[in-house]
Amino acid sequence: MKPKIAVSACLMGINCKYNGGNNYNQKVIDLSEKYELVPICPEQSGGLKIPRLPAEIKSDRVFLKDGTDVTEQFLKGAEISLKTALDNNCHKAVLKARSPSCGSNGIYNGNFDKTVIMRDGITAELFKRNNITVYTEEELKGLL
Ligand code: SF4
Repeated sequence: MKPKIAVSACLMGINCKYNGGNNYNQKVIDLSEKYELVPICPEQSGGLKIPRLPAEIKSDRVFLKDGTDVTEQFLKGAEISLKTALDNNCHKAVLKARSPSCGSNGIYNGNFDKTVIMRDGITAELFKRNNITVYTEEELKGLL
């Protein structure tokens, strides 16, 4: 049986991205030769609609571009995604770079000006605190 890894659903081609599209990545799909891919989308799981406005983290809250506070939805989605990962015995995850949920070691700064700061998204941070190793789609070498 292949080991399971949690994967941002948008990287697998599922249309759960804020704009209704996806971030399909063939290299991520190719991981299915070695792993069983378990899709997660914290923002959808947290109850946010598709499409939705983009969101960024400012201090310890998460806001849509129009200023709506969506921190609770992000926290709920992170918990649901963590449960999915743990229930499936995932020790690793491939999460979308720079997302306020899924980004690891780099997300946007909260000003919607495309500036990246060294910080984790809400779900990536929760995964790491629960000993799940997080990779982005830009650093898959450790999984091959
Ligand atoms: Fe993709 Fe994560 Fe955003 Fe969902 S929350 S659309 S999985 S980056």
